[in-house]
Amino acid sequence: MTTETRGRAGAPERREMETTLKTPAYAALSPKAPLAPFAIERRVPGPRDVLIDILYCGVCHSDVHQVRDEWGGGIFPMVPGHEIVGTVARVGAAVTKWKVGDTVGVGCFVDSCRECEACKAGEEQYCERGMSLTYNGYEQDHETPTYGGYSTRIVVDEAYVVRLPGGVPLAQAAPLLCAGITTYSPLRHFGVDARTRVAVMGLGGLGHVGVKVAKAMGANVTVLSHSPGKREDALRLGADDFIATSDATAFERNARRFDFMLDTVSAQHDYNAYLNLLRRDGTMVLVGLPDPAPLSAGPLIQGRRRLAGSAIGGIRETQEMLDFCAAHGVVADVEVIPIQRINEAHDRTVRSDVRYRFVIDIASLRQAES
Ligand code: NAP
Ligand code: ZN
Ligand code: ZN
Repeated sequence: MTTETRGRAGAPERREMETTLKTPAYAALSPKAPLAPFAIERRVPGPRDVLIDILYCGVCHSDVHQVRDEWGGGIFPMVPGHEIVGTVARVGAAVTKWKVGDTVGVGCFVDSCRECEACKAGEEQYCERGMSLTYNGYEQDHETPTYGGYSTRIVVDEAYVVRLPGGVPLAQAAPLLCAGITTYSPLRHFGVDARTRVAVMGLGGLGHVGVKVAKAMGANVTVLSHSPGKREDALRLGADDFIATSDATAFERNARRFDFMLDTVSAQHDYNAYLNLLRRDGTMVLVGLPDPAPLSAGPLIQGRRRLAGSAIGGIRETQEMLDFCAAHGVVADVEVIPIQRINEAHDRTVRSDVRYRFVIDIASLRQAES
């Protein structure tokens, strides 16, 4: 497509009109294939879209689950990444919330139906017609695949973008867009406060942010970990206590201890054993998404315990979380990597060998392309 415009001297000049924005990325071309350089096409921003130059993208364990198609039904080629921080580079004509130069974030979804009960309640993550995941999903036309933050730029409707509060360190803040909101939302929803004895299960990307957020809410926090070597870190991160779950007596000794348990474990584990650590009327919330494991009625019935689940958070709550974290100095502990090391980072994530979140410096992708 071409268009005719007037040049500076008033002479007509013809230039190619953009139809798409060619964008360098890293993709897995098929399930379990290693991530490799790949070019994607972003749409030219529409009236309500913003174009974001990506600065940093966190590496969530969900990226690993999906690239390896552990949940099935993955859409390939897949460009992962849903902990995105960047700068607004262009805005559509009808955009009111953002201007060029704003520092913004994009989390796990980029659109939703906007009409269902969940969307109207501001809980777009539970959209009854299906939110548009930031990657491994489809736009609301249900046919255009979405591509995530392992890329140099992204185009998102302005209503699905959040603001990074001034002064926050950006690489460390990127993981808040998933790990932060996924832990903040259930802690808030279930009313965790200074009276709550909280256990965080699994000290990984989600878990370590969960410890910081729960402490910022005033709770007494214990980490339950299968890695005894994380004890010192847990206490440094603010936990009041640490329990090594490899200790055979741990479950017996800590029975009926906690009011609230946040399960961030990414690998299959015995829910029944952990439920016995809840007090009467205590609640365990699953946010980790491992393979299914058997569940018995007994541990729930005894003590009127509750087992719940929670998915990320809505846009309004994500903004609230970012503001809360900025006010309390909560950011992730990160290891910043160039994108060329992403496959190694995925392997190390599976081995719990990261303190505590990999974050990709997207400058490494831009430089490789220039
Ligand atoms: P991560 O950084 O890999 O942390 C997971 C932690 O689980 C590890 O650090 C480890 O903690 C524990 N763990 C790993 N393997 C284990 C094993 N074999 N046995 C016992 N414990 C083990 O992962 P993440 O990014 O925090 O994500 C955690 C889970 O949440 C993933 O399944 C992810 O897909 C899911 N997730 C869900 C949502 C949601 O909306 N619900 C959002 C984001 C992520 P220790 O070493 O301390 O034991
Ligand atoms: Zn995630
Ligand atoms: Zn909806």
